Amino acid sequence: MKEDNKMEGKYHIGLNGSPSPCHAKYFCPFGSESEHFSTKEEALIYADTINERRNNAVDIREGQPWFVNTNQDYERLKKRTIDNQPNIELERVKSHIQEELKYFNERLNEFETHKSECLKWIQRYENYQNRGASYWAKGESSGAYLYANPNEPVDPEVYKYLRDNAVVKPVEENYLKTHYGLFTRNIKRRLRGLKPVDYGGIENVFDDNVDLSKISNPDVIATNILLKEVGTNNVVDRINLSKDECIKMGVPAPGDNFLTSLSQIYVDSEGKKWHRNVRLKVSYSDKELFFKNKLREVQGEWKDYEFLQKRKVNYLRLLNDIDKKLKER
Ligand SMILES: [Zn+2]
Repeated sequence: MKEDNKMEGKYHIGLNGSPSPCHAKYFCPFGSESEHFSTKEEALIYADTINERRNNAVDIREGQPWFVNTNQDYERLKKRTIDNQPNIELERVKSHIQEELKYFNERLNEFETHKSECLKWIQRYENYQNRGASYWAKGESSGAYLYANPNEPVDPEVYKYLRDNAVVKPVEENYLKTHYGLFTRNIKRRLRGLKPVDYGGIENVFDDNVDLSKISNPDVIATNILLKEVGTNNVVDRINLSKDECIKMGVPAPGDNFLTSLSQIYVDSEGKKWHRNVRLKVSYSDKELFFKNKLREVQGEWKDYEFLQKRKVNYLRLLNDIDKKLKER
């Protein structure tokens, strides 16, 4: 049913009763780990069972299942479920509550093992926000350099966001100018009636099959210099760099991990130390919003967890009151 403990990227049965992709890291309102499936088809097989249990839930009497029913008013719950009800109904509600409490306990126990991780992520996203953005630290002079600790877990979405939007600036830009013969290249182009080209940046080609939850895996498969046509700025040519050339220029090399390679300090031919320069293609506000949403998501999971805890307390009270009523009669 499940390969590991992660819900993120798996399918759960959503509010509308059909499979939808899960975005939760540790606590999903739509079910426990066993209710998350690797494929849509697999989720569909269990949809009826899951929907049936939800429809039988005690608080469905209030019109909604617990995860959307934010009402935690005990008196209201009591009034709707057990006040003025015959014994047979009290017994029925009792067995449902016992069932649901069992399920709640399972969910809460399951979360216990992820609790500290969840808190850590909240803290991490808060830090990212305070420092400006994840993994980015301001350079002493200008720009930013990448700080990635290989021992820290990474959010694959954050990794992908940084990787897809990073603009890498070579430490040794002069090396570029002297070694890649733009001058002779342009003379040849002119003879063929073409517009001259200029250096247009560094392009990394990534292996899409690498696990992005770790920053120890090599994911750079190639590094190219882009050549752009003067005037139109269209990329008209790429020069593939060898590993050695990448090292000389201070850019991520084939076989490197992109994030960790950029966080390494580069020492130039005169022994001077440089932080590798990178910036993001997206605007500052875009970047802020991305991390704000990340923080909100994981905070939301914590709130759902606390909500379920309160729900459990109410159900235990209800169970107690049912027993009292049954004894009185
Ligand atoms: Zn989910």
